[in-house]
Amino acid sequence: MYKKIKKKCLASASGRFNDYFKKKTSHSNINIEKIIGIHVNVIEGCNSRCLTCEFWKIPIKTLDYNKFKEAIDFSYKLIANDKEVYITFVGSGEPLLNKNICELINYSNSLGLNSSIVTNSLILSKKKLKNLIKSGITFINLSLESNNPIINDKIRGIKGHHTRVIKNIENFEQLQSQEKTKCGLGIMTVVTSYNLDNLVNLVKWVNEKKIIRNINLSAINTVFGDQNSILLKNNTKHNHLWPKNSKIIEKVYDELIKLKIQNFKILNSIDSLQNQKEFFLNPEKFNNNRFQNIQCNVENKITINTDGTINLCPSIQDNPIKIHENTFFYNKKIIQKLQHDILKCKFQNCHIKLNCR
Ligand code: SF4
Ligand code: SF4
Repeated sequence: MYKKIKKKCLASASGRFNDYFKKKTSHSNINIEKIIGIHVNVIEGCNSRCLTCEFWKIPIKTLDYNKFKEAIDFSYKLIANDKEVYITFVGSGEPLLNKNICELINYSNSLGLNSSIVTNSLILSKKKLKNLIKSGITFINLSLESNNPIINDKIRGIKGHHTRVIKNIENFEQLQSQEKTKCGLGIMTVVTSYNLDNLVNLVKWVNEKKIIRNINLSAINTVFGDQNSILLKNNTKHNHLWPKNSKIIEKVYDELIKLKIQNFKILNSIDSLQNQKEFFLNPEKFNNNRFQNIQCNVENKITINTDGTINLCPSIQDNPIKIHENTFFYNKKIIQKLQHDILKCKFQNCHIKLNCR
């Protein structure tokens, strides 16, 4: 019987794999028994048409309930029982397209794990929202690129997306009191050339909405699903997304940092906002200098892929750990080798590393 982990505060459960990074540390600190986060890719494929992503171009594949259960049971054995542990339901696409999503949440809830989800809202009806809350989800993140419907819907590629998000915020507000849930609500925004100069307005709008707990900003550095877009600035197909006006970049990020200091509900740290600003101003310099001084700690996190395999790094699909039917293939040496590889990772322009909080 699994020992229940005490539910902890939700600050770290409110995003994707946030808080991935730490200052450089000795490799002797590695300890695979201390997993503090699980990231579950419940779906491949999407129902949106975002300019920032091409996952909607790939065929739909879903994570099967039994494979999820095997992978989560395996991961659970490695979890730190003295730290916050959280599970994030995301995907290379829209997680609500996985019809078993509430069962997956329910199972992780039965293990005592905090859980969060990131959704584009498109198929999030009031009934589905109620089911998510009833299944025990502890934080729901809605993607929203701007409080201006024209800017938002342009980036999302779906007319009416902004309206859907606003409706879901209203539904959440009603359900929160009806269901007496402690579930929180957040906004996730990808910063591009299209919404940069409206970001301050968006943050002020979020701040006024009592029901929204926070907003998390990620700087675009690649178009998901397009392997050729790693250096977005130099990519002819997608560089329309790249903010080019350095005066606007400086002005907006300086204002965001001021708002953060004034305790506006921005989840990113001041360091993170500063990193995003420097990255947009000069990505090559940022990659060569500042990037070298931070190190990801994905060795303390686990990613469960849509086929039920496990990786430590969610960005690089190398050496997935396979879990065979009924027998857990837990080879500590393999896992520790992967942990060492992560600590030596020189991959530049990593989306996770850039957007850590
Ligand atoms: S950004 Fe999210 S919602 Fe948009 S296409 Fe990609 S996976 Fe779908
Ligand atoms: S690609 Fe490298 S830096 Fe990025 S999350 Fe993976 S191991 Fe960490």
